[in-house]
Amino acid sequence: MPRKLIAGNWKMNCLKADGVALARDLGVRYSGEADPVFDMLVCPPAQIIDAVGAAIAGSGVVLGGQDCHRERKGAFTGDVAAPMLADLGCSHVIVGHSERRQYHGEIDLLVSEKAKAVHEAGMTAIICIGETEAERDAGQALAVCSRQIAGSVPEGSSAENTVIAYEPVWAIGTGRTPTADDVAEVHAHIRAELSRMLADPDDVQILYGGSVKASNAEELMSVANVDGALVGGASLKADDFWAIAKACS
Ligand code: PEP
Repeated sequence: MPRKLIAGNWKMNCLKADGVALARDLGVRYSGEADPVFDMLVCPPAQIIDAVGAAIAGSGVVLGGQDCHRERKGAFTGDVAAPMLADLGCSHVIVGHSERRQYHGEIDLLVSEKAKAVHEAGMTAIICIGETEAERDAGQALAVCSRQIAGSVPEGSSAENTVIAYEPVWAIGTGRTPTADDVAEVHAHIRAELSRMLADPDDVQILYGGSVKASNAEELMSVANVDGALVGGASLKADDFWAIAKACS
């Protein structure tokens, strides 16, 4: 069974001082764990990755980016290249988050190219997938996940360089979550889809994301094939994020 990964997506939140304080707090807690059964990842805004990296240095908490460009370098004003994130000490990069798909028009092919750029820079891509509410209501949740996996997971992916985050769009930031049975159904489906594409599907971490909080973490993290969480809002408070992580213990 893959090790649990608890990942915090800070989105466009935290000025430097706040981010450093949050990271330092998490680092102290994590390094104080005798034998943590989970990995902890924080994904700050690109502008403060360097400072956050310094704050968690030596703690065991790892660092990630929230997005990257598909190209390695070039004339792309305002964008961030995967090698730049690796250069700052990132081990992971989120790609294909529904907010990128929704507000930046990102399609599966682009997500796949970004994931490839992450792999080539020596990091792990956290590839986000998930259905909208209309798609779920239409009974298409599994089909949407299949389509997004087929389109967004590039050749060369493996458990070594790829994490899948199942994030139903309607659950993100809404306080609503699917039932444990629904999560189990989708995660089993994702595992089955991966087994048709990858050599080591059972080792791939499949995260659940969407309104994970301290009060529902234990139930969600104990669902079969849930190998951790991608957490938005609740990752901005050390107590909340830590409680979610401890729910894996
Ligand atoms: C997210 O945006 O990845 C997310 C899961 O957000 P939240 O936890 O706030 O629903």
